[in-house]
Amino acid sequence: MANQDFLNEINKRRTFAIISHPDAGKTTITEKVLLFGQAIQSAGTVKGRGSGQHAKSDWMEMEKDRGISITTSVMQFPFAGCLVNLLDTPGHEDFSEDTYRTLTAVDSCLMVIDAAKGVEDRTRKLMEVTRLRDTPIVTFMNKLDRDIRDPMELLDEVESELNIACAPITWPIGCGKEFKGVYHLLRDETILYSTGQGHTIQEVRTVKGLDNPELDAQIGDELAELLREELELVVGASHEFEQEAFLAGELTPVYFGTALGNFGVDHMLEGLTEWAPKPQPRATEERDVMAQEEKFSGFVFKIQANMDPKHRDRVAFLRIVSGKYEKGMKMRQVRTGKDVRISDALTFVAGDREHVEEAYPGDIIGLHNHGSIQIGDTFTQGDSFKFGGIPNFAPEMFRRIRLKDPLKQKQLLKGLIQLSEEGAVQVFRPLINNDLIVGAVGVLQFDVVVQRLKSEYKVEAIYEPISVATARWVSCDDPKKLQEFERKANANLALDGGDNLSYIAPTMVNLNLAIERYPDVEFFKTREH
Ligand code: GDP
Repeated sequence: MANQDFLNEINKRRTFAIISHPDAGKTTITEKVLLFGQAIQSAGTVKGRGSGQHAKSDWMEMEKDRGISITTSVMQFPFAGCLVNLLDTPGHEDFSEDTYRTLTAVDSCLMVIDAAKGVEDRTRKLMEVTRLRDTPIVTFMNKLDRDIRDPMELLDEVESELNIACAPITWPIGCGKEFKGVYHLLRDETILYSTGQGHTIQEVRTVKGLDNPELDAQIGDELAELLREELELVVGASHEFEQEAFLAGELTPVYFGTALGNFGVDHMLEGLTEWAPKPQPRATEERDVMAQEEKFSGFVFKIQANMDPKHRDRVAFLRIVSGKYEKGMKMRQVRTGKDVRISDALTFVAGDREHVEEAYPGDIIGLHNHGSIQIGDTFTQGDSFKFGGIPNFAPEMFRRIRLKDPLKQKQLLKGLIQLSEEGAVQVFRPLINNDLIVGAVGVLQFDVVVQRLKSEYKVEAIYEPISVATARWVSCDDPKKLQEFERKANANLALDGGDNLSYIAPTMVNLNLAIERYPDVEFFKTREH
């Protein structure tokens, strides 16, 4: 039997990520969340290009230059008796693989919607991913300090486009210059908004009850009357919050506010900590592993190189599924069967790295990686099961990469392989020549690779076009047929960064012919680690 202290630690953990379309306000909300979590003292302007101030979750130079968030960072903070782990996800489309993998490591998501725009493309895509595991979703309608769309229409759009029922928990009173605050449906109280206090935690002013004349005095007769009328409609037309439907991913509690004005983020956090699931089980080929199991287990969903120039190393991010991490414990890396003693795992308190003595299910720990850890690796306390479901996607764009100084070939290869371990790009080495082909899902990744090769590996590289349309990972159960395939298709075969055999196709037609020609060989568009 697991002891009570251990269960308490598990029960208070909430691990979530924010999903949104770029510019909806994810970074700003992250910052405000950290403010409430007392992880930072005051919130500055996030990502104001050239303003010199950046959210703590933005680590790398590139991100600062471009004002986008490339890496996944992890932040832990206390809120309302819970210990919250917030996993930041890159917002730009080109980095979606990272985001997908991060979503395998959380138990719930916050969906942020720009209330002036409604449901946008990337939100749609990300929601599709969360639907694969029925991840519970909390919704925040942002930017109420601007003129927004009709709130009822926004809820309708979420329901019809994202196929999830909406249960408004707060309801906005006005918007733009007329934004007065929100009415909290469950608490039957109005929370009033004050402008110009975005950088701090506002003093909370509330009016209890909807029929309270104080409400008319505070927000004006007209708005108060309108609110009462509107709420009757809202209550009739929308869903009531139900914990079970929320946990099943069928219903989302909806909050309104402004991240910039720091209003409403705390309401959302209260809902999230109260309702979002504690650390959930994860599936292996054999069975589901439960958080309260005593033996430690976890999986690596992200590898990142050189996060901090002061620590020139690579870190593997591991989500703890069961048991407890204790400094100095022995872990088995299931893929290699090796037992390793870990005494220097990292935790991420608002971007600062600190050595942890212990960590629990739902937590993310950082393991120093000297090249032996791969994305998707399972670590256990002697068990041999493997967690599944962490995808790698076949790249869709390809370039040959070449050095300016040919003597640095070894450095280049090392850099490329390390960057590909992070999963941001794939590197392919054809069997028949010494080319190095970089494959990416989005074009921005090519620039990132060249920048990082320069700053982290001191090699200057340039790209050349190459006629490659697509790549597939290949495998074949029959060793003889595989050999034959390797011989005949030699000119199209390559090894990726992890030495996995892949087929490089100059055209889609070529790929389809190959698939027909070698029926015993399987061609995979994604590789599950
Ligand atoms: P991200 O791309 O989703 O991380 O979005 P950011 O947090 O960087 O926000 C994008 C832009 O919207 C920035 O200029 C923010 O200052 C602005 N923004 C974020 N939240 C609000 C809000 O509540 N009101 C207004 N008016 N602007 C906001």
